[in-house]
Amino acid sequence: MNLRSLLLDDIAAWVVANGFEPYRSAQIAGWLYNRDLVPVAAMHTLPAPLRAGLERDFDCLPPRIAHRSDSSDGTTKLLVGMSDDKVVESVIIPRDERRTLCISSQVGCALDCSFCATATLGLQRNLEAGEIVSQVLAARAVAAPWPLTNYVFMGMGEPLANYDRLMRAISIMTARWGFGISPRRITVSTVGLVPQLERLARETSVHIAVSLVAVRDELRDRLMPVNRRYPLDRLIGACRDLPIPRRKRITFEYVLLDGINDAVADADGLVALLVGLRVKVNLIPFNPFEGSGYRRPPDDKVRSFHERLLSAGLQANVRRSRGDDIRAACGQLAAQAT
Ligand code: SAH
Repeated sequence: MNLRSLLLDDIAAWVVANGFEPYRSAQIAGWLYNRDLVPVAAMHTLPAPLRAGLERDFDCLPPRIAHRSDSSDGTTKLLVGMSDDKVVESVIIPRDERRTLCISSQVGCALDCSFCATATLGLQRNLEAGEIVSQVLAARAVAAPWPLTNYVFMGMGEPLANYDRLMRAISIMTARWGFGISPRRITVSTVGLVPQLERLARETSVHIAVSLVAVRDELRDRLMPVNRRYPLDRLIGACRDLPIPRRKRITFEYVLLDGINDAVADADGLVALLVGLRVKVNLIPFNPFEGSGYRRPPDDKVRSFHERLLSAGLQANVRRSRGDDIRAACGQLAAQAT
């Protein structure tokens, strides 16, 4: 078990079972989550036998930054190495006063979306909660002295396909004894695994984003095979019934692919599909990767699609591509070291 996968209750149980004073658990959590990253050996307020016990019983290795690339636009991509030498990508995206961390939830991905580079890896494995949390720790250290302000599960993998570990990581991120991050600053993005989406909305108050990409089943089946399992009427129906507070909106992401889903009729279809839902649409012009076979639509096409949504009264933004010179943009994450 990864040391940084532990919840306070788990730490407390271990502390008591090993004969240490109960107050040690809060101290351990403080070292793990509320300080700069240090190895267990350097947690000097803990007695030596306690440190030795932790090292005996848990995988205590701090996250390792295997590679770092900096984009000309200020975006930083980290390759974070795991103890089995697998790597995942985490991206720090500065914008105005904000610093958003894009977090990976799996090594590779099983969902096989035809326009996404991560799909080419296949699913290699789920990340442990501690490996998710470690990305935050590594990125915090890199971003310092500036704090990270927003956290999005939009890196490699499908977070809801790794539900229990995702929830554990979110618990550590939001707990007072953990990072103390407000759930409003966390976004989980999903292809739309309906049962897990319903659970997520019941069990947390994190922001939800759904990758839609197509508004007809026939097309979405081809672009996102998961649609055969949870077709549009089921997905959108579930979104209508989610217990979302009045002031909040669901985000729908729509990757614009030249000549595939960027026609005016698609914009109208999107409006019709989402009518009556409190939503925000993020248009993401396709980011190319080697061998993808798709193209980004020309700017005027993106603009007219966007305007069509706006004039129908939808809240919609175009997500400006960030970090594409270091292959850190949406859909380009495939764990290369360059
Ligand atoms: N599996 C989750 C989390 C990954 S988020 C999900 O699909 O939502 C990655 C976002 O980038 C998704 O909205 C996805 O649709 C989008 N995306 C994938 N490939 C892309 C590409 N090549 N260009 C632009 N956006 C892409």
